[in-house]
Amino acid sequence: MWQPIWKPLLVMLALVVVFNVVYTALIDNKEADSAEVPYSRFKEELARDNVKEITIRGNSLKGEFRQKIPVTEQANRKSQTRNVGNFTTIMPAIQDPALMPELESKKVQVTAVSQETSPIVSGLIYMLPWLLIIGVWIFFSRGVKAQGPGAMMGGFAKSGAKVYESQKAPVTFADVAGMEEAKQELREVVEYLRDPKKFSRIGGKVPKGVLLVGPPGTGKTLLARAVAGEAGVTFFSISASQFIEMFVGVGASRVRDLFSGARKVAPSIIFIDELDAVGRSRGAGFGGGHDEREQTLNQLLSEMDGFDPHEEIIVMAATNRPDVLDPALLRPGRFDRRVVIERPDWRDRESILKVHTRKTPLGPDVDLAVIAKGTPGMTGADLENLVNEAAILAARENSAVVGMKQMELAKDKILMGGERKMYISEDEKRITAYHESGHTLVAKLLPGTDPIHKVTIIPRGMALGVTQQLPEDDRYHFPKSYLMNRIAVILGGRVAERLVFGDISTGAQNDLKVVTELAEKMVCQWGMSEKIGAVTFSRGEEHPFLGMKLAQEKTFSEAMAWRIDQEISAIIQEGETVAQGLLEANRDKLDALASALLEEETLDRRRIDEVIGNGER
Ligand code: ADP
Ligand code: ZN
Repeated sequence: MWQPIWKPLLVMLALVVVFNVVYTALIDNKEADSAEVPYSRFKEELARDNVKEITIRGNSLKGEFRQKIPVTEQANRKSQTRNVGNFTTIMPAIQDPALMPELESKKVQVTAVSQETSPIVSGLIYMLPWLLIIGVWIFFSRGVKAQGPGAMMGGFAKSGAKVYESQKAPVTFADVAGMEEAKQELREVVEYLRDPKKFSRIGGKVPKGVLLVGPPGTGKTLLARAVAGEAGVTFFSISASQFIEMFVGVGASRVRDLFSGARKVAPSIIFIDELDAVGRSRGAGFGGGHDEREQTLNQLLSEMDGFDPHEEIIVMAATNRPDVLDPALLRPGRFDRRVVIERPDWRDRESILKVHTRKTPLGPDVDLAVIAKGTPGMTGADLENLVNEAAILAARENSAVVGMKQMELAKDKILMGGERKMYISEDEKRITAYHESGHTLVAKLLPGTDPIHKVTIIPRGMALGVTQQLPEDDRYHFPKSYLMNRIAVILGGRVAERLVFGDISTGAQNDLKVVTELAEKMVCQWGMSEKIGAVTFSRGEEHPFLGMKLAQEKTFSEAMAWRIDQEISAIIQEGETVAQGLLEANRDKLDALASALLEEETLDRRRIDEVIGNGER
């Protein structure tokens, strides 16, 4: 039905294009010799009689100098100076009455041009959008007819890669907080992309593929984008799961499209997120071979092998499962560099918070170091979220600044789920207050435990109350004495309840679970029981990937299982005895803490020390 009209339309479209090209070529052939200068500069040149002629159209003014002048310009973040004989400038909206007399006195040839464009040109410009729409429509209709359904999707989706002009979103290393080692390792890649020839000349080993390994939200994408920003190259990014989501056969062709796009604008960076989605070992999938995925992976491998030495493309990829990747991906010439990105420690968390509060008006009481210390395990993404939440809270309260209060609330919300609004009886409150006071007091009285940050009986998530301890540093190694004290602290809640009410509540259930797991690990994995000795058993292990316990083959006898159980309960018993002794001996402090909690609901570090009357810790 459209068959008879599309040809003339396309011809017309082509004519418009040709016309435009010729027009610009004719009019702007002085481009290379021309520059845009500030109006003040033009006036200066006029004053020293260096302007030969000008043409005025509306408020824009263009003209020729008598002698060329040097002009400095910003281009690609570099400044450049060149000599130009022609110029354009914009006249200020405030009229300059001195201009005409001066032009006359300097004998400058002045031409004024009407602002209207010729009717043919404006007619064409008016029609252009329509022509384009019709053209696009014809293009797609043709595609569908020629290749059947699905081709249209393929055409639309192409590779699904977003192309970021590096100039448009310049993220640099300054936007990535912490990660000093990772940045250091990637500096070489930046050097290479900035000046590949120089890099090879001084004998650097040309990088090809960089694998960023780390948990989600730790800033892998951000880091890759920053490498592109630092080097000033184009950044292509795609998530590997996008390769294989739509139709069979699309994955491989998307890989091809992506690489050919990157080749065209090289030097460039290709970033593939979730590499494991296509990069799993071949033939290892559930439910037989996953042909689609394997084809995509093969295409990726062959694209990476197919680079010419002069094709300056770096492929970066992110995963948190390097263990499942096909070994072929890790061979030399492919992802042969690995950068491990850990969850940030508190110092890095502090600098991440600094980056994300750059534009947030903060109250004078805000201490980012305290927040950083109170958020162990949080990633950069979590911290960004925390700052956003705090800002929303502040806005809701019509507060001009974000204070510590909002920060703490946001932190608690993210850590423990939103505040629970529910009715709690006075009795329950009392039990909770003693329970939490028990944890707090045992922690205060035992040496070498993590300092208490705050204790609260405001219910959150699944918990009726919370005692928060703040490790001074993130810890990876735990001495046995520390673990024993920790067990006593956790049991302190239950022990306090029994001491005061002669009864225990179900509120301690989670404490018991945590304590049992800890004791099990001490005995079975860390060899911390003297009776059993320095052996490890598969018991209490978590599945390394799924983070849960699986039915495992037993590698020890029934007799050993019995002894293990005995040891676990001995450890728990010991912790309970320690807590019991401390709380009995300090019953006055326990009562003081509990009643302060009932009164104030939340006690911070300083207030706790006041209540129990020791200020030294
Ligand atoms: P990943 O790719 O590892 O899942 P992203 O790079 O997508 O993580 O991180 C998500 C967001 O978290 C980023 O856009 C950034 O705002 C924030 N973020 C993560 N790590 C950092 C960091 N080190 N410095 C600043 N912001 C970070
Ligand atoms: Zn508890």
